[in-house]
Amino acid sequence: MDNLAGLHPREAVERAATSLGCSPTCAEVAEYFDEHDKLRHLRENFLVPKVSDLRPSDLSVVDGGKDCIYLSGNSLGLQPKMVQKYLEEELNNWARMGVHGHTEGSRPWAWAENTIEKLMANLVGATTEEVALMNGLTVNLHLLMLSFYKPTTSRHKILLEDKAFPSDHYAVESQIRLRGFDPQLSMLLLSPRPGEDTLRTEDILEVIQKEGDNIAVVMFSGVQYYTGQLFDMHAITEAGHKKGCFVGFDCAHAAGNVELKLHDWGVDFACWCSYKYINSGAGGLAGAFVHEKHKDTIKPTLLGWWGHDLKTRFQMTNMMELQPGVNGFRLSNQPILLVCSLQASLEVFNMTSMQALRSKSVLLTGYLEYLIKHYYAEDPSKPHVHVITPSDPQQRGCQLSLSFSVPIRRVYEELQKRGVVCDMREPSVLRIAPVPLYNSFRDVHRFVDALGEALTSSR
Ligand SMILES: *Cc1c(COP(=O)(O)O)cnc(C)c1O
Repeated sequence: MDNLAGLHPREAVERAATSLGCSPTCAEVAEYFDEHDKLRHLRENFLVPKVSDLRPSDLSVVDGGKDCIYLSGNSLGLQPKMVQKYLEEELNNWARMGVHGHTEGSRPWAWAENTIEKLMANLVGATTEEVALMNGLTVNLHLLMLSFYKPTTSRHKILLEDKAFPSDHYAVESQIRLRGFDPQLSMLLLSPRPGEDTLRTEDILEVIQKEGDNIAVVMFSGVQYYTGQLFDMHAITEAGHKKGCFVGFDCAHAAGNVELKLHDWGVDFACWCSYKYINSGAGGLAGAFVHEKHKDTIKPTLLGWWGHDLKTRFQMTNMMELQPGVNGFRLSNQPILLVCSLQASLEVFNMTSMQALRSKSVLLTGYLEYLIKHYYAEDPSKPHVHVITPSDPQQRGCQLSLSFSVPIRRVYEELQKRGVVCDMREPSVLRIAPVPLYNSFRDVHRFVDALGEALTSSR
């Protein structure tokens, strides 16, 4: 695909079609992209569910032995093949060594998470010291806010999206109450302009500029879970800093999806989960980031023994030797079984780079958008579909959110019969996430075919 690199996805699709002598919507284009995809082999590292395992075969209208069309990596990533092996290793170590597993074996439990932090740091553009693997996402968000949100009477607001993910909304709301402030007055919620689906960067920056003196923390998502919009995290961070605010991001839908430069952008803090694009399994070990510049000044509010320097942690002196930066925020010893699954996935990510994945992703999602638009342009009698996600590839990750002019439940059921796994938000939205790590261009083509059939048969 070297000759197509750097082109707008639309152009890449049309050029490929021209050189193949077929229509841009024909399956040959998908095959051509797959053949030239240098990351194609990475799919081999994952277990892709079979259609027959998802649907009773009598309900399926496609060959049950086929791989399903898995487009829900934004919700739960697929299982890396090495997960089972790593889990078995530690179950065996536990069986054979008992407590000695803490310090022996190839993955000593007492510091197992430390050995994979470098791999995670690479994904989010951080140094190893800036990243901790611990807890769940919402827990980490709370721990970080306890240190970064220190409201005063003049500066007490938190700026966030009006339709932030519920957990983030509740976390912010409860942090404000915890500090004795009123969420009605201190939660500054930002909505898109009337008639628009997504926020404009200029509007975000303007609010920060205007209200910044009262804002303690700007707390945004990196990629919006519902619309798929990728925010300009660098610009938001700069604007916040100009007004003296701390700026934090929830990277749940950004980590493993888009290129992040948390360190270079100067982001103050961030948190993310690892079971979406990072494929660590439901409830996997989450990530937290505190910028190096805060390592000696921002202290954790709550302490636990895992925040103590590893070298003297087990001397049990009860004299805290706090690790600098985010490492001091650790509370408990880590669940080794969750370290195993996360390690398996991070190793696959580190066979390539986020830059290479992103480059494939732009084309893969651009191809999806192209096919959807083309499909509907051909036949005005079909129900209307509207792409909520920004059409500019720089303002989105791999996910497209599609809104239909008809109720979506029947269509969704028909899609399931055709082996499609995707996310439905009633009344009328589907979230479709072709993931560059394991989805193929053929998956995208099969999905658009299945969608056409599903719309016809649900009428
Ligand atoms: C997925 C997601 C969560 C989930 O939080 P957990 O603590 O992992 O259950 C929270 N916030 C955002 C933005 C998410 O996308």
